[in-house]
Amino acid sequence: MKRCETVFFIGSGPGDPELITVKGKRLLEEADVVIYAGSLVKEKVLQYAKKDAVIHNSASMTLEQIMKIMKEAANNGKKVARLHTGDPTLYSALREQADILERAKIPYEVIPGVSSAFASAAALKEELTMPEVTQTVIFTRLEGNTPVPEKERLSELARHNATMCIFLSIGMIENVVEELKHGYAEDTPVAVVYRATWEDEKIVRGTLKDIAVKVKKAKIARQAMIIVGKTLVAPGGSKQRAMGRGRRSKLYDKNFEHGYRKKKGLK
Ligand code: SAH
Repeated sequence: MKRCETVFFIGSGPGDPELITVKGKRLLEEADVVIYAGSLVKEKVLQYAKKDAVIHNSASMTLEQIMKIMKEAANNGKKVARLHTGDPTLYSALREQADILERAKIPYEVIPGVSSAFASAAALKEELTMPEVTQTVIFTRLEGNTPVPEKERLSELARHNATMCIFLSIGMIENVVEELKHGYAEDTPVAVVYRATWEDEKIVRGTLKDIAVKVKKAKIARQAMIIVGKTLVAPGGSKQRAMGRGRRSKLYDKNFEHGYRKKKGLK
């Protein structure tokens, strides 16, 4: 009997094939069997796979079918790369796959990836946390087929006025806005990034007042990240921040001392 191989769950990043980690790329290059979440993993990343690797698109498969392929390959000494979009620990059904591998005593590892939340923030050239504005980021979604616990309703989370990255919800942008208005002021900036890092990436900026209309006009109905919060640039392309602009962190403040830098004193 062949030695059982490891299954690697790999975050393939938001789309740009250069945004997979060096480790993820190496493991993909070495894999004999590749299973990718075809609904979102951009196929360009598959260019790193071996010429003779067996490649499966999991988009139309059930969990049982996916796991059968994974288990058979690993038990036959084949290295498996299971590609998830962004980072595999967010909205990727990682745990249910990992549980089955654990029960089958098949070793697995998880390789992180660049989440679309971060790729979207980078596309926007925004910082998600800012001194005195917010020091918190919430990753969440609107309830869809997957229920969301009552305490995590968007309207509840909105009360914190933290920055929020909202996944899987662009198709219900009006409902998102309605819920958010329970906690944020109407003029709070909102940005939507469609397919961050893809060739057809689109950015729409607005406020809670007008973002839903703008998103509909841009015909964005899927594969988009909604980011809301006061650290974002004010709408209209203005260079002025809603609130955060002009504030400085202590990190690079000459009057602030920390383990890696002594205070310079006032000049
Ligand atoms: N694990 C993934 C999220 C999977 S859920 C990650 O860390 O990014 C799928 C949702 O992610 C989509 O509905 C969308 O909200 C977001 N998403 C995935 N890829 C994206 C991209 N390139 N640009 C913007 N949003 C994206």
